[in-house]
Amino acid sequence: MADLILKNATVVTMNRRREIIQDGAVVVEGNRIIEVGKTKKVKSLHRTDLEIDCSEKLVLPGLIDCHVHLAQALIRGCADDLALIPWLKERVLPLQGTYTSKEGELSAKLCCLEMIKSGTTTFVESLLHWRYGFDEIAKVVEKIGIRGVLSKSLMNTPGYADQKNAIPEGMVEDGETTLKQTIGMIKRWHGKANDRIHVWFGARTPGACTVDFYREISERAKEYKTGITIHLGEVKKDIEYLRREFGMTPMEFMRHCGIVGPHVIYAHGVWIPPEDFKILRETGGTVCHCPASNLKLASGFAPIPEMLNAGVNVALGCDGGPSNNCYDMIREMKLAALIHKARLLDPEVLPAETVLEMATRNGADATLWRNKIGSIEKGKIADLIVIDLHKPHLVPVRNPVSNLVYAANGSDVETVIIDGKIVMKNRRITSINEEEVVQEAMKAGLEIDKKLGLNIKSRWPLK
Ligand SMILES: [Zn+2]
Repeated sequence: MADLILKNATVVTMNRRREIIQDGAVVVEGNRIIEVGKTKKVKSLHRTDLEIDCSEKLVLPGLIDCHVHLAQALIRGCADDLALIPWLKERVLPLQGTYTSKEGELSAKLCCLEMIKSGTTTFVESLLHWRYGFDEIAKVVEKIGIRGVLSKSLMNTPGYADQKNAIPEGMVEDGETTLKQTIGMIKRWHGKANDRIHVWFGARTPGACTVDFYREISERAKEYKTGITIHLGEVKKDIEYLRREFGMTPMEFMRHCGIVGPHVIYAHGVWIPPEDFKILRETGGTVCHCPASNLKLASGFAPIPEMLNAGVNVALGCDGGPSNNCYDMIREMKLAALIHKARLLDPEVLPAETVLEMATRNGADATLWRNKIGSIEKGKIADLIVIDLHKPHLVPVRNPVSNLVYAANGSDVETVIIDGKIVMKNRRITSINEEEVVQEAMKAGLEIDKKLGLNIKSRWPLK
């Protein structure tokens, strides 16, 4: 007897043929999808303990956010409408540099709640500093029930591009220690929580790691058969630095350092030039597009349609609390679909379907769970989301994918199943007390500002 059936749904399978099944059903047993098809037929084959009626609802594979900063949920809105350098050097990094593991843990809870409530079932955290409390954060992921890559930050020099001491004291780490900590975390957490937790190497941006250190990271990732993620070509200065210092493009530099392969995610890639697309395609790495962050920080427009045309795997990410300022992949999909149309003066680029592929299948391909998540197919892991379409802003339904990308938002996600377990039902989180986390975060966020003597408030008079 199976455990759960989602019935009478419009199932957007994201399978190879991209079939959308009307009056569809998905059957879950343990953590696996064991049947997908028309409700009537599926129900004649399987009996289940629990049935969820999904009439007028969409069932989709869970969304995959390939670039997240868990610790930044608590500093949401700390640096709005500021230029990149003061944004980073006066606000984001110094505030994170005061974190204790208590704040790291709370921020991770807040961020995971927001992700689940907006349909993200898998995330890739890119830079966890030791001071955020890696073990505590891993325990949050284990308990809350989400699937996640936790990447430990690695650096061996406190720079950012050619700025020698760009990384403030509270955030500086040394090479040997960061390597040791990452390997320790791999040993303790990689594959834990029924393989819901993976530990990767989170290499810092060029300027914070020497070439030899990048090569060491590359070797260790191979040795432990895990992934690497790195911010690459986010701002123009990044590529100018690599050209001046090494005479290389970003991907030439990555190849020179050994940070290439299907196990690597390059976040942003705004300034990756066309000559790099071939290296990306040949080595099989993923570029993670973060449109909200790139727009808000005025970093530029990543050449996403061009990369996809060149055969590069492109995923999607929300980045962080100060740069987005939310972790809602549905809103991110809409931005991704819109901005390139205006940039290229072509409304046919990045249709809704392509963007949904970026948020599901392409995201899965970027992780070590490729072939296991990212679509609704027999044998795959049951990471599923249910979206209620019976709402004024979501009818009529001509093309369900179009409604999802252009008209929906994260709050339309009603139920979330991860690894076969119901993590949210009718918008109620089942694993932790949501209200407690919101209350705590409301207070703790402002306490962090006080540690630096910052008083960030409304720019309009508060009466
Ligand atoms: Zn980032």
